Amino acid sequence: MPDIINPDIAKKVENLRSEIQRHNYRYYVMDDPQISDAQYDKMMQELIELEAKYPELSSPDSPTMKVGAAPVKKFEQIKHSVKMLSLDNAFSDSDILNFDRRVKEGLMTDEQILYTAEPKMDGVAVELVYKEGRLVSASTRGDGETGEDITSNVKTIRSVPMLLQQNKKEHIIPARLEARGEVIISKEGFKRLNEDMLSQGLALFANPRNAAAGSLRQLDSKVTAKRPLEIYFYGVGEVEGISCKSHWDWLYVLKELGLRINPHIKPKINIDAVYKYYKELEQMRSILPYDIDGMVVKVDSVQFQNQLGTKARSPRWAVAYKFKAIQETTKILDILVQVGRTGAVTPVACLESVNIGGVNVSRATLHNEDEIVKKDIRIGDTVLVQRAGDVIPEIVKVIDSARTGSEIIFCMPQNCPSCNSQLVRDEKEASVRCLNDTCPAKIKAQIEHFVSKRAFDIDGLGEKLIDQLVEKNYLASYADLFYMDKAKLEGLERMGLKSAENLFEAIDKSKNISFARFIYALGIRHVGEHIAEILASKYTEYEKFCGAEYDDLKNIKGVGPVVAKSIVDFLGLEDNLDKIKRMLGAGVNIRYEENRKNTTLDGKVFVLTGTLETMTRSEAAIKIKSLGGKISESVSKKTDYLVAGKSPGSKIEKAKAANVKIIDENSLKILLES
Ligand SMILES: [Zn+2]
Repeated sequence: MPDIINPDIAKKVENLRSEIQRHNYRYYVMDDPQISDAQYDKMMQELIELEAKYPELSSPDSPTMKVGAAPVKKFEQIKHSVKMLSLDNAFSDSDILNFDRRVKEGLMTDEQILYTAEPKMDGVAVELVYKEGRLVSASTRGDGETGEDITSNVKTIRSVPMLLQQNKKEHIIPARLEARGEVIISKEGFKRLNEDMLSQGLALFANPRNAAAGSLRQLDSKVTAKRPLEIYFYGVGEVEGISCKSHWDWLYVLKELGLRINPHIKPKINIDAVYKYYKELEQMRSILPYDIDGMVVKVDSVQFQNQLGTKARSPRWAVAYKFKAIQETTKILDILVQVGRTGAVTPVACLESVNIGGVNVSRATLHNEDEIVKKDIRIGDTVLVQRAGDVIPEIVKVIDSARTGSEIIFCMPQNCPSCNSQLVRDEKEASVRCLNDTCPAKIKAQIEHFVSKRAFDIDGLGEKLIDQLVEKNYLASYADLFYMDKAKLEGLERMGLKSAENLFEAIDKSKNISFARFIYALGIRHVGEHIAEILASKYTEYEKFCGAEYDDLKNIKGVGPVVAKSIVDFLGLEDNLDKIKRMLGAGVNIRYEENRKNTTLDGKVFVLTGTLETMTRSEAAIKIKSLGGKISESVSKKTDYLVAGKSPGSKIEKAKAANVKIIDENSLKILLES
């Protein structure tokens, strides 16, 4: 006989579930959280504990399902009641004009057609089925007719509600709703995921889409639960209990039911506006937090959609208007090897310069020797090169048909191209390394890293100047930067009195530095910005960090054994500790406090307008978000600060009307640094 559960506890569990669901909705769908992450985590933890203590109270609809269920052997199949079609592509303005013409012909009308345009997110298409408001199944697109049952994996996604929301009394929860969406990983989530994979010694993902696909197809949903997956809904399959007249109405219904839609959808616009929005979206592409590869244009009227019908694999009423190719063909002129700051030797292809999506590309990484062998890349080959987002350009494949027979097979050198010491192969990582600590190429790369924007941020120390300084033995390590002789510097090529003075000023200014940046600047293998931040928040003094032990480091969340070993190896070298001491001896001042209270802007909503002078708006946005603040596109009563740069436009008036505090760039900087 099970114990009879105290009704108060059952009530408490019920309350926690509905509160968590409500906060998920505020956070993901409304983009307007009302509690801090810490408060949210606390509620979740309480619910997990109660459900563990009283298993009788557990429920498949509970938000605790987000931690994952028992692993499965293989995925079952799910048949879609309405085929999940793919979309035809449009690559040019004339393609889109033709699409509009075909739509009008199909409808036998000359009247203007209204379209809904939405960003084409680069992820994995899925279908979720809600019965009487409960999530009952989720599947991949598969071949369009049948997909794989990934229900327990999809349940782990935080932006997926287990229960549909009934916002207002008059809103109906449909008897059946098949909601279609795109599962993605944001650019930031991708960066962190790969850092995490690296720290566990696992293979990295090539891009956010691969990472999303791989994470969704995990047989163990507890693994999926740890991946930063997100979902955006874009349409419906079969629905019982609600009907809509237009695509935009459907999207609105989805949002009202608690299913997140993309905030950049433009509803009910004519074909001219479609063009205009395409250009805008292409501009926005790089600052959006996730990858998009085009715009989806759909005939808005459902009646028109039905009249137009579908072809075998794609509807006649929708088209994917793709952005300019981010792949181009070019020729490999040579293959060089580069020595990185940790001694890793990577082959790099020198390319005949080619414009890819508006950027000139003349180099592409080849990762390692295995990659070259696998893709059979030779000097002189014609290759397909790809540039995706902020990623370094890479070679997709060799165009075999362009081979003439004069191509040269590349061999990885046995010795370091810089110091000639014997290279060592690391089988596990398929990499080759120079182990010489006095290797000039390594020192140069370390200094370049040390002075870079996210480390000491020293202006005026470019690659060429660093080369000279190292070659002339003025610098044997980054610590020497703080002991340079101004007189010697003035004598260098392209270095006058004024630029030497500027450089010294920049070095002096950089001495005041946060502990996270300081750790990042040291250039410890596997220690990126994120891990540096974790370390800086754990160790409140540099002495404690320098004395950190493997076991302590290994157990820090986000660090793990591989990174821990690398840190211990670094700190185990007397020479490295000596560099740290010399830097501090030269007046480098580490600021510790900002690690402890890096939530100064917690929940504050910022709107940015006009041109900023010392940073771009997206840089400002990143900084604000990193301190816990939020960015909004438009001014409302909920806005805390309007940051007004040059030529701020109409937002100022709105802010005044809404009584929102208006600050300039300088005040923003003070806020960010306080
Ligand atoms: Zn070397």
